Amino acid sequence: MKRSFRNRARDFFVYMGKRYRLLIVPAILGLAISLMLCNLCDYFRRGTKRFACTIFILLCFMLGNSFAYPVFYDEAGFVTETEVKDTVPVIEDSDITLMEYEETTFDSIPVIDDNEVLDGYVDAELHGMDEAEKYSLTDILEENSELLEAESEVTAEPESKSEEKLPVFLADDWKLVLINKQHPVPDDYTFKLGDIKTIKGNMQCDERIIKDLLGMMQAAGNDGVTLEVCSPYRDLNRQKYLFNRKIEIYMSNGMSYMDAYTISSQAVTVPGASEHQIGLAIDFVSDDYITLDEGFADTDAGKWLAAHSYEYGFILRYPKGKEYITGIEYEPWHFRYVGRDAAEVMTKENLTLEEFWNKYL
Ligand SMILES: [Zn+2]
Repeated sequence: MKRSFRNRARDFFVYMGKRYRLLIVPAILGLAISLMLCNLCDYFRRGTKRFACTIFILLCFMLGNSFAYPVFYDEAGFVTETEVKDTVPVIEDSDITLMEYEETTFDSIPVIDDNEVLDGYVDAELHGMDEAEKYSLTDILEENSELLEAESEVTAEPESKSEEKLPVFLADDWKLVLINKQHPVPDDYTFKLGDIKTIKGNMQCDERIIKDLLGMMQAAGNDGVTLEVCSPYRDLNRQKYLFNRKIEIYMSNGMSYMDAYTISSQAVTVPGASEHQIGLAIDFVSDDYITLDEGFADTDAGKWLAAHSYEYGFILRYPKGKEYITGIEYEPWHFRYVGRDAAEVMTKENLTLEEFWNKYL
């Protein structure tokens, strides 16, 4: 009797498994698959109807999943391939571009200068904003000559006493009040605005710093450096106006509110968190460099201030490289009065006001 395919396959795999130990696993697999195929063939051989039904179901399944192919429409007489091409616009790969996500980098965005914001501004309610408030040394000196003579005697006095004992710093000292984004101006903060008469009008700041400010300007003048004071005191309205106006400008250039807010808060201090509001900060320019930007650092005035301002109680409030501490970009023109002792410590130890507070208060 002729041996069936099933028996021959079984004998072959059993023989291979026994003869070669290494082939035992493939032999078992081969045996299982060949037996399964044989059983399947037997199953269909015994019932051709069953076989036809299975093939029919498989065909229906394939067609049902293939209706997206125009070629089937064509065969079925619905839509030809060319018709589909005519009605459906062809989209080339090159037409499709993914929207690029670009994280906002503020470095590339030009900082809006206060003066740009103020351009064309007319509102009598916010006093002193319709014209640039810049007071040159000569403006001030001519009107304050007697006061300065008295001051120069005081400032000329050597401070030998401070050499003997270390200065004590107190947290409630008005000179050391810390104002930044985390520490807004306290609601109950009061101070007396002092006027310095100038030819153009009155310059205002905390009256307690006028003596040192004039002394510093005169000393700079003696060294051949002409300092100009630019908007020392700004009230809250002006600060708010500057801030909101900058946000508007950035948003009109297509920036989102959040981005505009972030960059505006870097360029101008957030309302309520500015030292200009408490009359202790002075922005300086010089007669040959009148814009408030980083270039001021390279001018004679900028260099003189960086080197000597501490002698008169002023510090460079937002130094380069400490932006992560102050939260404000480098401002070589912005000086803050902290008193002579503190200014000396901060300058010699290279501390920001924030770091000074951490260490001494
Ligand atoms: Zn400033």
